[in-house]
Amino acid sequence: MPTDALVVVDMVNDFVTGKLPCPRAERIIPNIRRLLDAARRADIPVIYVNDAHLPTDFELKIWGPHSMKGTEGAAIIPRLASKKGDVLLDKQTYSAFFETPLDSLLRSLKVEDVVIAGLHTNICARHTSADAFFRGYRPVIPEDGVESFTDQAHRDGLEYIKTNYLGEITVSDALVKKWR
Ligand code: ZN
Repeated sequence: MPTDALVVVDMVNDFVTGKLPCPRAERIIPNIRRLLDAARRADIPVIYVNDAHLPTDFELKIWGPHSMKGTEGAAIIPRLASKKGDVLLDKQTYSAFFETPLDSLLRSLKVEDVVIAGLHTNICARHTSADAFFRGYRPVIPEDGVESFTDQAHRDGLEYIKTNYLGEITVSDALVKKWR
C-alpha cells in the first residue's frame, strides 16, 4: 500500500468551467475529493500536476491559450484545493511526466502504482499513463475519477490505457477502501 501515489491532473478552473470547459467533469469532483481525503489520511503521496502554460508552448497551437501560468484559469478548482503536504507540479503539455520532476519524485518515494485522476481520460490521463508505463510504473485509473469531453472519448481513453499500458481500470470506492 505505501507504494501508491495519487496524481491529480488538470483539475483547474480553465478545464472545468473556464476556457476549455468540461461540464462532464462535475461528476468526478466528489470522487476525486474522496480520493484526496483517503490518500492524505493513509499517507499516500498526493501530487497535483497542472498545465501552467507559457505563451510559447507548442500545444497552444491546437487549443489556444488555456491554463496560462499564474492566472486564475490555471488555479486548482476550490472544491479540490490542495492541502499542506501535497506536492504541486507545473506541466507544459499532456503528460504529467514530460519535462517535470514527477519521475524522480515517484522514484524517491518508491512508488509502484500511479493512480491517475482528473482531465481528460483520452488526453492527459492517457499520455500520463503511457509515460508511467514506459518508466516501469503501473497506471491505475479510477474510471469515475477521470472524464473527457464526450462519453465516447472517455471510454476510448480507458480502453486504450487498459490495452496498451496494462492500466488497471478501477473505481474510486475500491481505492478509498484499499487506503482505509
Ligand atoms: Zn495544455
